[in-house]
Amino acid sequence: MGKTAEHESIAVGMKRERQDSVLISDSETYLPPTPQSIRKKFPETLPASTESTPTRRKRLKRVPLKYRPEKNTILEVHDVTQTLSDEPEKVGFLYHALINSQRIIVVNGAGVSVASGIPDFRSSKGIFSKYGGSSGKDLFDINLFRSSDKIQQFTSMIRDLSSLVERSKPSKFHHFINELAKTSNLLRVYTQNIDCLELQCPYLETKSPLPSKAPFPNVIQLHGNIKQVSCTKCHINYPLGPNFSAKMSCPECIELDNVRELVGKRTLGHGILKPKIILYNEHHPDGEAIGAISEMDLKSRPDCLIVAGTSLKIPGVKRMVKEFAKAVKSCKGCVIWLNKEPPPTSIINYIENMDLIVVADCDSIPDLVSGYKDKYIYKRVKTSTPQIKIDMLNTCKI
Ligand SMILES: [Zn+2]
Repeated sequence: MGKTAEHESIAVGMKRERQDSVLISDSETYLPPTPQSIRKKFPETLPASTESTPTRRKRLKRVPLKYRPEKNTILEVHDVTQTLSDEPEKVGFLYHALINSQRIIVVNGAGVSVASGIPDFRSSKGIFSKYGGSSGKDLFDINLFRSSDKIQQFTSMIRDLSSLVERSKPSKFHHFINELAKTSNLLRVYTQNIDCLELQCPYLETKSPLPSKAPFPNVIQLHGNIKQVSCTKCHINYPLGPNFSAKMSCPECIELDNVRELVGKRTLGHGILKPKIILYNEHHPDGEAIGAISEMDLKSRPDCLIVAGTSLKIPGVKRMVKEFAKAVKSCKGCVIWLNKEPPPTSIINYIENMDLIVVADCDSIPDLVSGYKDKYIYKRVKTSTPQIKIDMLNTCKI
């Protein structure tokens, strides 16, 4: 299930020159905070140095990169074994990027969850086709709450998605990211997915709502999640159960009204329970926190960016990726695109700094990495002296 809605919500980067864009939908009702305003509000989140980044294990010595592909080099993976034989240099670069980098940012989309059995929105079996929408705006707009017919359809869709998510398990790629977190090489995962599959992995975690100051969790859900509902009035969260209805009233609000009535005060009314996914034309409750976190990550000298399983159709996320790619390149890091489809020229030109475009299923990447280790790294180690063998193995952390 990937992107929830194609809103432009995500507050990213927060560079001065980016006064345009950012939050939510076409209405542009939310302006991104400036670095100054973020510092004022969250002084400890934007340090001049990287002192507030999570404590990391002692860093292993980096292995020098022997080959860097030309910009936007394509690596197609149809058969892992074949690719390992045919394209050892390109796979070697991918291996280097994923195993030797120490501050990796991952931006996920629906493609990473397809192997978990969750269809992406745009495929022929996807959500759009099942519920008759041609885009996210048809199915995920706050204004549909004004129409009882559309509310009914929305309720069915959310129940279906929720039931699907309950039965799903993380994919190989989710576990691969978990390993990056386990070895302290993951700086952050920004996921457009609402399925919470990352959170079934032991080293990946998030918070909802996001805290206003560090420490921040290592998973940021850009579009909310489908496991919770939130009251539109008092904002209390509840689990989203199988009997979810988009017309359910908030028990907390009702109780408060009952108490007020008993003591002769006027009632205040009650909110309804809305899934905690961010809809079009809706204010993003975590927008400022996401802006602060991405700003901090930009300053943390990220050395690898993996853009996985997304076609970057959402403008706010596209801008975020561009900023991250720029920061990674300024640290001589590696920018990897990973998706079943290569990006269109417009995306390549917009991002500017892509090193390797891997056209593959996300789940083939762990196999490719371990295959490279077995075929090229371990083979060399076997013929080396014992001390070299230990050194080499220390670089193979997965
Ligand atoms: Zn309430």
